[in-house]
Amino acid sequence: MPVLCPVCGVAFEPEPGFFWGAMYFSYAFSVGFTMITAFLVYYFLNNPSVLVYMSFIVPVVVLASPWSLRYSRTLMLHLFGGLKFDPDWKIHDLKDLDR
Ligand SMILES: [Zn+2]
Repeated sequence: MPVLCPVCGVAFEPEPGFFWGAMYFSYAFSVGFTMITAFLVYYFLNNPSVLVYMSFIVPVVVLASPWSLRYSRTLMLHLFGGLKFDPDWKIHDLKDLDR
C-alpha cells in the first residue's frame, strides 16, 4: 500500500497504528462470510457434519481475506480517518483541498 495517494497526495495512514481498528471490521466481515456460508451449507446439504461445515467455511474465509483486508481499511479510513469524498474531484484543483 503506498504511503500517499498517487492522485491527491492524502496520507493513507493518518497516524501510527491507525489501522488496528480495521481488525474489527475485518472480524465482522469474517463473521458475515461464516454465517452466510454456514447457512448455505445447511440449506443445500441438509445439515451435514461439522467437518463438512468447516471444509466450506475455512476456504471461503481464507479466500475472502484479501477483499476483507482492503475493505476494512477503506471503511476505517472513511469512518475515522477524516476523509471526505469529493464527487467533483476531477475538476477541483488539488491544492485547494484541506488536509
Ligand atoms: Zn486520493
